[in-house]
Amino acid sequence: MRAARVIDGAHHEVVVVGGGQAGLSLSHHLVGSGVEHLVLERETVAHEWRDGRWDAFTLVTPNWHCRLPGYPYDGPDPDGFMRRDEVYAWVRRYADTFDAPVAEGVAATRLAPRPGGGFVVSTTHGTVTADAVAAAVGGYHRPVVPPWASALPERVVQLHSHEYRNADLLPQGPVLVVGTGQSGTQIAEDLLLARREVHLAAGRAPRVARRYRGKDCMTWLAEMGVYDVPVAARGLAKRESTNHYVTGRDGGRDIDLRDFARRGMQLYGRATGVSDGALTFAPTLESDLDHADSVAESIKDDIDRWIETEGIDAPAEDRYVPVWRPAAEPERLDLDGIAAVVWSVGFRADWSWLDSLAPAVLDDEGIRGTCAASARYPGWRSSVCPGSTPGDRAGSSASPRMPSMSPGR
Ligand SMILES: Cc1cc2nc3c(=O)[nH]c(=O)nc-3n(C[C@H](O)[C@H](O)[C@H](O)COP(=O)(O)OP(=O)(O)OC[C@H]3O[C@@H](n4cnc5c(N)ncnc54)[C@H](O)[C@@H]3O)c2cc1C
Repeated sequence: MRAARVIDGAHHEVVVVGGGQAGLSLSHHLVGSGVEHLVLERETVAHEWRDGRWDAFTLVTPNWHCRLPGYPYDGPDPDGFMRRDEVYAWVRRYADTFDAPVAEGVAATRLAPRPGGGFVVSTTHGTVTADAVAAAVGGYHRPVVPPWASALPERVVQLHSHEYRNADLLPQGPVLVVGTGQSGTQIAEDLLLARREVHLAAGRAPRVARRYRGKDCMTWLAEMGVYDVPVAARGLAKRESTNHYVTGRDGGRDIDLRDFARRGMQLYGRATGVSDGALTFAPTLESDLDHADSVAESIKDDIDRWIETEGIDAPAEDRYVPVWRPAAEPERLDLDGIAAVVWSVGFRADWSWLDSLAPAVLDDEGIRGTCAASARYPGWRSSVCPGSTPGDRAGSSASPRMPSMSPGR
C-alpha cells in the first residue's frame, strides 16, 4: 500500500471512495490496468473488520471463501474460520500486496457532477476532480435502534451489536439481545457461554446448518454455483434481506435457538415496545423458529438434489428434529429484570453524500437507483451496482433461500 494524500484541486482518472475489501479489490484492478487513481478511506484500511466486531467474532464463511482479486486465502486452514483479528490482518495485508494509493483518514463528503463531465469530490481534506468515481463504502453505516428504545429507563445500558465487545464490558445482571440475524445469535451465544442470564427476542431470520452430508453447507452451495450468480440475476431485494444464521466459532457449528433455550436462554417473539414497565413481544416465536428450520431443511433438500443429479458419493445424514418447542408465547419482560440491551437489528446505509446526484444515483430506497445511473453519469460506479466492480461477489446467491455472508439488516 502506498500512503497517498489529497492535493486540493488535483485531478484523478478515478477516485475510489472506501478502503475496505471492495475498494481495495477495485484498486487492485486499476493498478493492474495502469489506471491512475486515489482511494479515499475515512478511517484506516479494513478497519470495519477490527472496529465493528466483537472480541470472539469469527467468520461465518469458511476461509476458502475469502478470495479477493489476485489474493485467495492460502493459509493452513481453508475449511476453518478466521477470527476477527486474523480477518483484519488478512485484508490489510492485501493492500500491501500491490501499490494501492490510499489516503487514510479522509472522508468523501459530497460528490457532484462536474460541468463538461466527470465529478467533483469534496473531502474532509480538500476537493479533487475525477473522470470516474466508485463508491465502495459498504452498506453498514447507521446502526438501527427502534424509536421506542428511548422509553427504556436510563439505568438499562443500551448498545448496538456494532459496539458490543464482550460480556465483561456489560453491567452485571440479565441481558436482552434483540434480533436473531448473524450478529444477534452469535452475541447471544457469546453471553450464554460467559454464563450470563440471556433473554433473546427472535426475528424472522432464516438459518442454515453448518454441515450436511460430509461438508460445510457453504462448500456445497459454492460447488452448486450459488455464489457465482451475480446480484443482477437474482434481484437487488435479496441483498437487503436478513442473512442466515450459523457460526464459525470454535471451528464452525450450527446455531440453534431451540438448543439455546434448552441451555437456559429465555426466548421471545419480536420485540414490539415498552409498556407499563415491561418490554412487550409479539407472539411470533414458534412460527419464526419453524420458519428458520424450514429454510435450513430446504437448503438440505437442494443439496440432496445436487448430490443425486451429480452422482456424488456423500454419506447419508438424518434430518434435524426440533429439540425444544416453546410452551407459550411470552409477551412481557419486566424491565426491572434487565441490566442491558444489545440491539442487533441491523444497519441502514447512509448515501447522503451523494444527494447532489439524485435522482439518477439515489432513489427512495437509497443506492439502488445507482444501477441505472451510469447511463446518465458514465463515470459512476458503486460496489453494490451489479457488474460494476470486477470480481464483485457481494451477496451473490441464486435462490432466495441461499445463505450469504453479510450480517442481518
Ligand atoms: C457483524 C458482521 C459480520 C460479518 N460476517 C461476515 C462473514 O463471516 N463473512 C463475510 O464474507 N462477510 C461478513 N460480513 C460482511 C463483510 O464485512 C462485508 O461484506 C464487507 O466488509 C464489505 O466490504 P466493503 O469493502 O464493501 O465495505 P466495508 O468493509 O464496510 O468498507 C467500506 C469502507 O468505506 C469507508 N467509508 C465509508 N464511507 C466513506 C466516505 N464517505 N469516505 C471515505 N471512506 C468511507 C469505511 O470507513 C470502510 O472502511 C460481516 C459484516 C458484519 C457487519
